[in-house]
Amino acid sequence: MSFLSLGLSAPLVRAVENQQYTKPYPIQKEAIPAMLQGKDILGLAQTGSGKTASYVLPILEMLQRRSPSSDRAVPVLVLVPTRELAVQVDEVLRSFATALPRQVKSMAVYGGVSINPQMMKLHGTDVLIATPGRLIDLVEHKAVQLSQVEVLVLDEADKMLNLGFREEMEKIFALLPSKRQNVLFSATLHEEVAFIVADILHNPVKIKI
Ligand code: AMP
Repeated sequence: MSFLSLGLSAPLVRAVENQQYTKPYPIQKEAIPAMLQGKDILGLAQTGSGKTASYVLPILEMLQRRSPSSDRAVPVLVLVPTRELAVQVDEVLRSFATALPRQVKSMAVYGGVSINPQMMKLHGTDVLIATPGRLIDLVEHKAVQLSQVEVLVLDEADKMLNLGFREEMEKIFALLPSKRQNVLFSATLHEEVAFIVADILHNPVKIKI
């Protein structure tokens, strides 16, 4: 099985091969075609499984078919628990995006650093990778608008809840349009995660690695 047969187009397959990914990992085999079909996904997977590329690649594929974002309304939102993961996801995305015909603008935003430089750079962002608290601050400063999000990814949802972000997450969900694609990755499915799953995922494809 190849990345091409999963439904990714030639430029993206070349970008993947440039990163020395020769064959898709199991999670990628399941998640990439399902995401390209617009389905919701519940992925039970640990770090190291290849989960990042399993959602980053279909997002890049979908963005290739879409005109560039021009204002403060982001089409793709990735929520993560920590600054480290935000930076890491952004790096993975950029490593594939550099070789693509349609430029993709991504940005990682997180707390603990000054908000002003982040606010100034947000315009035209296609993929916003954010920790929940800082995202709310940015929304309150009107630096970003969530009413046109088409794809929502929650990465390490269990960790996000363990860190006490439940309230912020619910506040964010309330700002999103009801018609959207939802993808949730978690290493565990404890009670609070199950609640979020029931709340936001619709008939998800379930992937357990
Ligand atoms: P992740 O679980 O997303 O943190 O990925 C774990 C590691 O696996 C990262 O270093 C990726 O670069 C690498 N990786 C992910 N998918 C593949 C693949 N299909 N082939 C080779 N390496 C991969």
